[in-house]
Amino acid sequence: MNNYEYLLKDINTIKGIGPKLSKLFRKKNINTIFDLLWSTPRDATDRTNLVKINELQIGKTQTICVDIIKYNFPRIRNLPNRVYCEDETGKIECIFFNSYEGYIKKILPINSRITISGKIGYYNKKYQITNPTYVSSKSDSIKRVFSSYSLTKGLTEKKYNIVMDEVLKNIPDLNEWHSDDILKKFNYISWKKAILELHNPNNINKKGNFLNRLIFDEIISSFLINSKIRKAIKKVKKTRKKFDNSEFIKIKKKFGFELTNDQEVAIDQINKDLKSNQKMFRLLQGDVGSGKTIVSLIASANVIQSGFQVCLMAPTEILARQHFSLANKLFDKNINIKILTSKTEYNERKTIISDLSNNKINILIGTHSLFQEKIKYGNLGLIIIDEQHKFGVKQRKKLSDKGGKDCDVLVMSATPIPRTMIMTIFGDMDTSIIKNKPKNRKEIKTYSKLESKKEDVIKFVKKQISQKNQVFWVCPLIDESKKVDHQSSVKRYEGLKEIFKNRVGLLHGSLDKEEKNKILISFLNKKIDIIVSTTVIEVGIDFPNANTIIIENANKFGLSQLHQLRGRVGRGDKESYCILMFKSNLSQNAKKRINILKNTTDGFKISEEDMKLRGYGDLLGFKQSGIQSFRLADPVLNENLFLLAEKEVKKIELRDQNLNEYMTLLKLYDRADILNDIV
Ligand code: ADP
Ligand code: MG
Repeated sequence: MNNYEYLLKDINTIKGIGPKLSKLFRKKNINTIFDLLWSTPRDATDRTNLVKINELQIGKTQTICVDIIKYNFPRIRNLPNRVYCEDETGKIECIFFNSYEGYIKKILPINSRITISGKIGYYNKKYQITNPTYVSSKSDSIKRVFSSYSLTKGLTEKKYNIVMDEVLKNIPDLNEWHSDDILKKFNYISWKKAILELHNPNNINKKGNFLNRLIFDEIISSFLINSKIRKAIKKVKKTRKKFDNSEFIKIKKKFGFELTNDQEVAIDQINKDLKSNQKMFRLLQGDVGSGKTIVSLIASANVIQSGFQVCLMAPTEILARQHFSLANKLFDKNINIKILTSKTEYNERKTIISDLSNNKINILIGTHSLFQEKIKYGNLGLIIIDEQHKFGVKQRKKLSDKGGKDCDVLVMSATPIPRTMIMTIFGDMDTSIIKNKPKNRKEIKTYSKLESKKEDVIKFVKKQISQKNQVFWVCPLIDESKKVDHQSSVKRYEGLKEIFKNRVGLLHGSLDKEEKNKILISFLNKKIDIIVSTTVIEVGIDFPNANTIIIENANKFGLSQLHQLRGRVGRGDKESYCILMFKSNLSQNAKKRINILKNTTDGFKISEEDMKLRGYGDLLGFKQSGIQSFRLADPVLNENLFLLAEKEVKKIELRDQNLNEYMTLLKLYDRADILNDIV
């Protein structure tokens, strides 16, 4: 057995863990011994010092050594059992709720000397310890510092410590994977030593080489895999796509604006990829409204000219429709464009599927139904995925494989994230970034307003509507419960309806797709002026006529989220407004955050500031998305370690192509399964 294999064993192999206990751990998503290592002590209780009864401090957790004198086991239900104890300096009672006589007699036999540890109480002029945490005739097993871990019901501190003692005792020595250069930076601390330090109760909240090394291990394992996937994809030799710029010129004539510099650069980069004999695996990143769609459609036209098919996958049906109608506007009549969604009727679907396999369709636009098993492309040359930043590395790889060897992949994302995050989440891809927005964009004026001034806001909305503009009204997130949010949006909707009559629509999470689409379409067609909604205003939909967004209870949102919401407006060339409403005056910190938003329209900057203030954990819902997140590493706090890892990966690949030296690391950090897929 390789010595690291101990760490990958199931927790039920640990001495002292039975089925009950392992169930509790599994609930905390801890399944292997390795998983156990990342829940670190939050606090520690020092039980080292033995004190005499006359020195006890009420309310503190203390350890005493006493003689067991007498029992009192009342026959009346609900009265606790008592054990009278003393030392040379005084008396104390141990009180037991829910413990049997037999058990008490066994752990505290009369006339014996026992070490007891627990919280000291005082009642009726007597010291007492209720349900002592530790009781033992061997004082050494208690006189130590105990770690407090995050517990769940049924998982006591005592049990947790027993488990961790056992595990830490057995942590294997692993062959070092890092180079000497790297190790030097962490003062040569080994992985094993670092783990032991991480769990040492004296190190709670401490930073140091032990922590940095473990963070670095985590980052580098993730980067190594990303880079490996990227190489594996590039290794596939594809047919070069052959096209000239005639399609580009034709399309350019059809839209009434100049491309921005960044758009031009992105198009160039994509063209190069398409024409090369390596598979493209590219991320097109750009803030909301930066104009990614047009870039992807130009790429599509080129791919079609070169004789291949394209499929464009949007996250929602309405967005797919929007792309579809834009493609119809821009492309030549001889290009066959089809749309496929879950709503496409049976016969139509059948025709599409057959035409697709016979190469009669040039571009298929739709939702995730584009990738069902049944659907076979005759000659797919490009997959475009819009707004799917919540696609993990593995899923992207699968998609690329499904496309076949000649299929390039372009992923578009409007999630502005710092470079360290891009390296992590999209490290398997090349990136093009659109930073500057189209010139005709006016800045969105951002204001904050107290909720008590709602009348002013209504007046403002009336004015906008009278000028033929449209309005989003985002309702407060009241708490985590969808039900309450729903109620609040219904209430707001009814209120606004009294003022604006049937020109208001309501969107909330419990509507089905059909109803949702209906409302969005009537908004697009200007049948209604206001959409009241909970946070879910579809990402990416273009409503050029909407120029105002009201966001209630704005302090419940993160800055990046507010920025994304704000990006729903300001897409046409009108003056646009974002009004943030607050229940009460803002705290200093909240003011700081809001000012960032008011003064900046650069989503990248906003997300970076946001992360500095809030940490990266819950930013933009990456956590829920199932994208492998780090246990220790933080892309903002540990930026320097991310940069170090980026450099080191390049060096590693020069000296150890197959990553042999890093196999243990990769296996432990749950990445090797991806490796198996690609090598
Ligand atoms: P996103 O990057 O958020 O997907 P879109 O591609 O939906 O943005 O573009 C937003 C709007 O900007 C669309 O109405 C589009 O026609 C317009 N647009 C795109 N590029 C330009 C440009 N260079 N100049 C002016 N308007 C543009
Ligand atoms: Mg878009």
